Amino acid sequence: MALIVQKFGGSSVADAAKVMNVAERVTETYKAGNQVVVVVSAQGDTTDDLIEKANEINPNASKRELDMLLSSGEQISIALLAMAIERIGCPVISLTGWQAGFNTNSVSGGARIKNIDTERMRRAIDKKRIVVVAGFQGLNKYDDITTLGRGGSDTSAVAIAAALHADKCEIYTDVDGVYTADPRICENAKKLDEITYDEMLELASLGANVLHNRSVEMAKKYNVKLEVRSSFEKVPGTIVKEVVNMEKMLIRGVTRDNDVARIGVIGLQHTPGVAFRIFSELAKEHINVDMILQSVGRGGTKDIAFTVTRENEPKTLEVLEGLKDVLKYEKLDHRDDLSKVSIVGAGMVNNPGVAAKMFEALYDNNINIHMIATSEIKVSVLIKLENAEKAVRVIHDRFIG
Ligand code: ADP
Ligand code: ASP
Ligand code: MG
Repeated sequence: MALIVQKFGGSSVADAAKVMNVAERVTETYKAGNQVVVVVSAQGDTTDDLIEKANEINPNASKRELDMLLSSGEQISIALLAMAIERIGCPVISLTGWQAGFNTNSVSGGARIKNIDTERMRRAIDKKRIVVVAGFQGLNKYDDITTLGRGGSDTSAVAIAAALHADKCEIYTDVDGVYTADPRICENAKKLDEITYDEMLELASLGANVLHNRSVEMAKKYNVKLEVRSSFEKVPGTIVKEVVNMEKMLIRGVTRDNDVARIGVIGLQHTPGVAFRIFSELAKEHINVDMILQSVGRGGTKDIAFTVTRENEPKTLEVLEGLKDVLKYEKLDHRDDLSKVSIVGAGMVNNPGVAAKMFEALYDNNINIHMIATSEIKVSVLIKLENAEKAVRVIHDRFIG
């Protein structure tokens, strides 16, 4: 007997027929003699629709109230799935995130799981029930509902798998695995049988939303056996694990992230402490900074450019404007017509020329690069948004074909 955590995303539970399909799959696993905990997301586009509803009423609603609203989507799904499982005739109980014991910090809209009090889930499992848990949500220390950030149900599933020491965590979605590029952008993307946690973490963080990046981080930390599979087709998916056969692949995937804004601080004094001042003030406001570029100092001045998410752009500009008297820069510049395109692969560590090959593919297609960032296993470039999908395709063709 194994304990298996299965997570089904929004498109997998989008309507009644799909909820029944999920119930069939879950009960099949249960009837085969396994203990099953199921995590579900809100149906279809429910979360987007709820955000729209909130904006109609108050675009500046507090994050607490937004979380109260957004968490309702998953609550609908758990009840419907539990009803579908009841109809098939298997014992089941649905639990909200807080009933399942999810304690989080207080960062509304992007809360982190602190711990899971598994007692109630354990009791239900011991009573031979299938446990259906609402993804994406928890409770902070003030007993307020929090959500884990968009795509966060994957993280709920992995967290449960870790807390219950499950044998396996299966993420069921509308594609049958992790591909070398988003199959919706790149027709000839190839399905990967396996991928390392590190590569998957980079891909997920750089825009491949097939897995929430924190879920991968957590799976690595707690050594959770993770598989991405199709909700609709019964075919093997992609296993995410510590070490994989490299298959002579230089890169494992190409991805793009359109959620970037580039901020430039032009004409800063070329003196020590300037970068420290900028980034420490942004950190105080919990603004995550991504790519950073400092120009060569010339004539006593320098420029610093960096990227943030679009949501953080206004706040970033506000912070920098507040620093104008201290930093005495000449002007600020900001753009949100850019996209970050990245290649990821552990194979690039020992292979020079990978970045050059990527840049060549862009050059051959007349795509200009606005910023570059690299790490051991990735190269990212900032390019015009309108070229992003084409860039993914031409880079993919160059490396993977
Ligand atoms: P769910 O609702 O099941 O959580 P998501 O929409 O969050 O599903 O994630 C699945 C989607 O991720 C796919 O439909 C696909 O378009 C997209 N995707 C992006 N990059 C990749 C990739 N490298 N491999 C597979 N899917 C990807
Ligand atoms: N429903 C949430 C979202 O759309 C969480 C998830 O799907 O994982 O972001
Ligand atoms: Mg998702």
